[in-house]
Amino acid sequence: MSEKKHAVPAVGVVVVAAGSGQRLGRGIPKARVLCGGRTLLERSLDAVVAAGIATSVVVVLPQDDAVLSDVVDAAGRPGGPAVTAVTGGATRTASVRAGLDALPASIAVVLVHDAARALTPPDVFRRVAAAVAAGASAVIPVLPVVDTVKVVDGDTVTATPDRGTLRAVQTPQGFDAAALRAAHAATGPAARTATDDAMLMEAHGATVRVVDGDALAFKVTTPLDLVIAEAVLAREPADVPYLPHAAGRPTLDEQQEQPCT
Ligand code: C5P
Repeated sequence: MSEKKHAVPAVGVVVVAAGSGQRLGRGIPKARVLCGGRTLLERSLDAVVAAGIATSVVVVLPQDDAVLSDVVDAAGRPGGPAVTAVTGGATRTASVRAGLDALPASIAVVLVHDAARALTPPDVFRRVAAAVAAGASAVIPVLPVVDTVKVVDGDTVTATPDRGTLRAVQTPQGFDAAALRAAHAATGPAARTATDDAMLMEAHGATVRVVDGDALAFKVTTPLDLVIAEAVLAREPADVPYLPHAAGRPTLDEQQEQPCT
């Protein structure tokens, strides 16, 4: 059954996958880690392609990573977006910039996505792209914050922000392409320390809008995150019908024979 698509123009997607994955502790780039028998990068690219909104996808990889280069080469589908790879930089911001530079100049809307958010449902991509197409220059998917959050200085609490005003931020983040390029080109402290692209846009004076994120768009960062991702993938397709390629994924038994490595 084909999914209904929002009426949005084609966009370019930058998938950043050049991180080392040190916090995951596997000794290989995180995008290469297997989950449910497939790499995190394959799962992320499945969702990008399934969203059906992109004409061009640039994947930003660690230098000389033949395994991930093969994943990118295999990601194209007949009638789907062009999927190409470039080498990333020392920081996430540098990697995003490398991806932006590799997108065709004709792209007007850019989505930037962390490969580590491997289970992100295609609908999140459509929601973000639709909001940019409707006129927003910067759009981020968010979730309410469930924990009370403290500001600390060393071992001392200095403030407790009102939790109702806080949101946890995910990717894909969507932008007017010219505005994002300008924000990345601007120099300043934000460019060096930014942990997401919306921060660069804020520093550049843009208004950033929010749309609903999704619990499945969590970032696989720690070993526990990988356990959670495996558990989600082990559920019956009927429980999580929006997972990319849900029907074709390995059964629980097959996954137990081929655990995360
Ligand atoms: O390190 P962090 O968890 O913020 O990384 C988020 C995403 O950015 C990951 O998908 C990672 O591969 C990517 N990244 C990158 N280049 C870097 C650092 C992180 O592409 N130098």
